[in-house]
Amino acid sequence: MDLPPIYLANEFEPLPEELYSVESGKPFHSCITCHQPLLQDGVNYLLEKAVRYYPEAKVQDVIFEYAMCMNCAQQLREELSQESKANIDAFFAERVNLVARREALMALPDPLRLENWISHCLITGIPRTECTEYQIYAQCDGHDLLYTYMPYMISSQAMEEIQELISAHTRQVLDDFMDQHFGLPPELRSLLQDKLVLI
Ligand SMILES: [Zn+2]
Repeated sequence: MDLPPIYLANEFEPLPEELYSVESGKPFHSCITCHQPLLQDGVNYLLEKAVRYYPEAKVQDVIFEYAMCMNCAQQLREELSQESKANIDAFFAERVNLVARREALMALPDPLRLENWISHCLITGIPRTECTEYQIYAQCDGHDLLYTYMPYMISSQAMEEIQELISAHTRQVLDDFMDQHFGLPPELRSLLQDKLVLI
């Protein structure tokens, strides 16, 4: 996406517990792909969590979660087809103004509050409390959460729209990534089938 670069002055805070690994109860410590340690100042990485929410019971399950260093994220993105990347970029450009969104969030009295940034689907505007499945994306540096154009939340409804934009090749790259890192028995694999690793 062709967005103006952001130079952070103090728009970061220690990682909120909501972004800790559910599996370990602690911040993610290494890149899922190259295993590089992440919890050092100056190490930039992305974090993704896919969540299923059960409104009646008010409980949530994390379907998958990982952190990935910027190098590996860049490499994965390079493997996707040009057409898919262009389609996804155009979709975002048409559906959300990330610059205006960030300005509005930063103008709030309490701007560095994760909940404000992920309270509604970035694409559809559906409240998180009404989403039974969604994904959270965040950009971090060591022990800190950075407030860039991320963090944001994308509902499964928007994910379904994005699925339609990607080529068979890109689908395969992403499926291979999921298989490699979240190898699951076949009966559970369908759970992941409509998930997209969106870099
Ligand atoms: Zn890595």
